[in-house]
Amino acid sequence: MMSEMPIGVMMSAGWTLDQLRQVRDLGFDNVQIHAPYEDVLEDDSRRSALIQDIRSVRIQITTVFAGFSGESYADIPTVRDTVGYLNPSMREERMRITERISDFAGALDVGKVAAHIGFVPDDPDHPDHHAMVQCVRRLADYCGRNGQDFCLETGQETAAALDHFLKTLNRENVGVNFDPANMILYGSGEPIEALGIVANYVVSVHAKDGKGPPGEGQLGTEYPLGSGDVGMDRFIAKLKQIGYRGPITMEREIPDWDRKVRDLVQGRKLLESLM
Ligand code: MG
Repeated sequence: MMSEMPIGVMMSAGWTLDQLRQVRDLGFDNVQIHAPYEDVLEDDSRRSALIQDIRSVRIQITTVFAGFSGESYADIPTVRDTVGYLNPSMREERMRITERISDFAGALDVGKVAAHIGFVPDDPDHPDHHAMVQCVRRLADYCGRNGQDFCLETGQETAAALDHFLKTLNRENVGVNFDPANMILYGSGEPIEALGIVANYVVSVHAKDGKGPPGEGQLGTEYPLGSGDVGMDRFIAKLKQIGYRGPITMEREIPDWDRKVRDLVQGRKLLESLM
């Protein structure tokens, strides 16, 4: 049984086993991990070896995050074209890969698979809206057969649009991985208010901070916890208010690992002081 709101770490794309051990040795007992890419997922011996290696670290994996080669977060139009399942030319292939990721997560006894599904058009009559509903239902049902929730990372739509999409999906095992900074980075609304709107669906959260975009079509900038505009005190208070008890997974999206470790240690101090 985990304590309430245990603090964990998101092992972003490109993470290594050494880094996973280092996070464990820093005293974290839970992480989310980015899934391996197709080259590992579809190679039986490499996949099995990775599963053994991860198990040997003895840290709880709370969620496996799906991600795909070719995704880019350079600016909003690029995100629209390359991220998740929105682009019809990649949709079927990525759904197939996500099913392999669900199996991979199952082999690690992980009960949640998450993804940035991409921008869902606000207009329910838009053909891509319907396609995304069908896509997420299929993935949720696949995960359901593996005893898993399928979780949508927030940020690329407003909370009202996400709430509407979730209701349209009508699937018990679809949840939200709530990332307050993404709401700011994508300019999709005030995160604490958004958390209240989708509260009933929130099954996991990222502790991440950031400041808004400098202009139209651009993305904002991520900052260390406490240095952006989320308001970590308000975020933690709101999580308590909605009765959230799951892990708080710190996410720091910078390539410099040593700096990231320093920020994670600092971030944990901040979070502990607010709980
Ligand atoms: Mg996130």
